[in-house]
Amino acid sequence: MSSFPPADVVVIGAGVIGCSTAYHLARLGVASVAVVEMGQPGGGSTSRSASMLSLQFCADALSLRMARYSYDRYMQFEEEMGVPIDFKRTGWLTLAGADAADRLRAQAALLQSQGVATEVLTPDEVRRRYPLLRVEDLAVATWGPDDGPFDPHAIVWGYVKRAGALGARFYPGVRATSIEVQGGRAVGVHTDHGFIPAAAVVNAAGPWAAEVGRWVGLDIPLRNRVRTILVTGPLPAVPPDHPFVEDLSAEWYFRPEGEGVLMGMGQEPAQAPDDTATRPHVVDAMIEVAAHRVPALADATLLTVWSGVRPLTPDGLPILGPAPGVDGLYLNAGWGGVGIIQAPIAGQLAAEAIVCGRGVTMDLGPFRLGRFAAA
Ligand SMILES: Cc1cc2nc3c(=O)[nH]c(=O)nc-3n(C[C@H](O)[C@H](O)[C@H](O)COP(=O)(O)OP(=O)(O)OC[C@H]3O[C@@H](n4cnc5c(N)ncnc54)[C@H](O)[C@@H]3O)c2cc1C
Repeated sequence: MSSFPPADVVVIGAGVIGCSTAYHLARLGVASVAVVEMGQPGGGSTSRSASMLSLQFCADALSLRMARYSYDRYMQFEEEMGVPIDFKRTGWLTLAGADAADRLRAQAALLQSQGVATEVLTPDEVRRRYPLLRVEDLAVATWGPDDGPFDPHAIVWGYVKRAGALGARFYPGVRATSIEVQGGRAVGVHTDHGFIPAAAVVNAAGPWAAEVGRWVGLDIPLRNRVRTILVTGPLPAVPPDHPFVEDLSAEWYFRPEGEGVLMGMGQEPAQAPDDTATRPHVVDAMIEVAAHRVPALADATLLTVWSGVRPLTPDGLPILGPAPGVDGLYLNAGWGGVGIIQAPIAGQLAAEAIVCGRGVTMDLGPFRLGRFAAA
């Protein structure tokens, strides 16, 4: 017996990816979209991020193409969704020691070849522009003016609000428990509140996507990794318009946050999709790197610490499109450390896959799950 009205599409998970998927489906004319979320919309990894919009992070042409599409959509987000996203274009400075210098130069060459404003800087130039930073052990740096922080909560709210206005229904506090498959085709989703009949189902369960895949025998090779964020108390030495600074060699970053700074670090394997325990040794390592790279940070007080799970894939690209072997089931997962940046293209492509049967904005070939089996 069904306790929910039937849906054209059920989306499992209301993180930024599921919410963008629901909005883009509704925007393409799907009348009945249902989104089940076991917690609250945006309460998973989406609520634990460093809140950065970036082009400078892109190390390959495909990721850059997706990020440029998404960046342009974010620049129109308030007009399209009626919700401001509080974007501050403070820029992104990447630092590399000798070990990461070639990688950073190649990344800068890619960005420049695609017309993304990017400068290559010597350590002395970094010292002159950003006197807070210690530069003796750096080999090279790059600077891009277009990146900056924005508000993931506002983004989720914008998608929920506009999708709802177009007819989508969100069910917070409802956990999907299995996918009903009949004759090789997904026909609905069982939940702890009853069954939702559906013509199509989307797995947008973020760090839980592998678990959801196992319900229908799919092996989704997620590598869930825990990253820790630390926010300090007031630090007048760091101006509020200081750029985001990423230290590639130390795998550490910081940016202004409130009256202090926010910094991030860590790649610990998650023991479960909800393993958000902060590892004390990561906090210790982060404080050590911070005091070395920005001596002024040695005086900081600790305001708060949290950790979150980044659902990475073996090749760094997402898993997006029809699921092999189960008609009507679609995947939108594995967005790793860039799911908020890439949410507009993620939702657009998933909606195209379902409504048009193919990627229209971009080819879905590089994102299919089958690429891992073939490797
Ligand atoms: C510390 C940290 C810093 C980051 N910084 C950035 C950044 O600066 N910029 C950026 O773009 N990205 C960043 N990321 C990555 C970004 O947060 C993720 O890529 C993105 O949030 C993934 O979104 P998602 O919707 O796939 O997953 P989630 O936000 O986790 O959403 C999945 C949802 O599915 C729900 N769900 C799972 N299983 C079920 C079920 N059975 N039934 C019902 N609901 C279910 C969960 O409750 C959850 O809400 C960062 C991540 C971390 C951890």
